[in-house]
Amino acid sequence: MHFSQIIGQEHSKEYLLKLIHENRVPHAFLLAGPEGNGKLALAIAFAQYMACHNPAANDVCGVCPACVKYQKLEHPDLHFVYPVVTSSSIKKPVSRDYFPQWKAYLTESAYVSVQTWMQHLGSENKQPMIYAHESEAILKMLSMKPYESEYQVMIIYLPERMNIACSNKLLKLVEEPPQKTVFILVTENADQILATILSRCQIINVPKIATEVLTATLQKQFGIAEGEAQSISRISNGNYTRALDMINSNQDNAFYLDQFITLMRLAYKRDIHPLKKWSDEMHAIGRERQKNFLQYTLRLLRENFIMNLNTENLNYLTVDEQNFSVKFSRFINERNIMQLFEEIEKAQRHIEQNVYGKMVFFDLSLQVILLLKS
Ligand SMILES: [Zn+2]
Repeated sequence: MHFSQIIGQEHSKEYLLKLIHENRVPHAFLLAGPEGNGKLALAIAFAQYMACHNPAANDVCGVCPACVKYQKLEHPDLHFVYPVVTSSSIKKPVSRDYFPQWKAYLTESAYVSVQTWMQHLGSENKQPMIYAHESEAILKMLSMKPYESEYQVMIIYLPERMNIACSNKLLKLVEEPPQKTVFILVTENADQILATILSRCQIINVPKIATEVLTATLQKQFGIAEGEAQSISRISNGNYTRALDMINSNQDNAFYLDQFITLMRLAYKRDIHPLKKWSDEMHAIGRERQKNFLQYTLRLLRENFIMNLNTENLNYLTVDEQNFSVKFSRFINERNIMQLFEEIEKAQRHIEQNVYGKMVFFDLSLQVILLLKS
């Protein structure tokens, strides 16, 4: 991982490089910040810079034997600990059990999230953890001296998901670290980490990616228009992982916006026959997309309500959504917003309970007619 591959975060890069240049690398530090801001990528770039045989002033060389191994995540002095899941064949999982998958996942992109990691493992519905027995694996990994570099580095991704017994053992290691070892903890919820561990680590806050930096990156990487890139940056709130997800699902969003506009227009006009037809069409799209549409509708109603309150800078809308909402938002107000939410949530429950889709959406559209009038 080159520092130059990391989006923005110039301040953090500078600070980390300074630690190395001034020979002040702490034996344990914490990179803390929101999801999708590149803090794990920073941790890897930092470790690689320390191992690089021929570093430039502000980046790795990328070609020395250490860099080559780092880029494949195969350097013997680089260790990872990360949340994992149990499975029918792995009852007591440790990070090492999933290393081939982790390597493949991380090589694809160092912008990670629990959700995409679980998707990669095909375990979307599981809550991954760092289990108690991981502590033995950590001790084993660190029992040797560094093989090829001056330091060995252990990157712990999401230590807030670590079992308490394991955390206590980690505390001992952080208190009395093995020689020539650097721990880098990468966290999204520092307040959920043992206070005694926190007090032993230098804490470095890594902010979300600046909106204008993310906008420029999305334009360059995906060739999308400035306006669209801007709205994706804003909605994803500086989270690159989420921005990628939005770009991939934009087609579906356009479909949901279209359905939302149809429903609201027909309900406003009290056009019962077309609404009946619309309900039949919604029935046909299948349960998953029905649920996504209802979730989308909740978000758009909320944004329109906020827009109506004139708090423009709180708005998270794409350009197309904005174009519609400018005129529509005046219909969403304190007299109907709560009831609209309740009706959508009722429809969500009914879809979950397998109530006939045609009925659910037709009932919903009748309620929308009544509520738009208030
Ligand atoms: Zn190098």
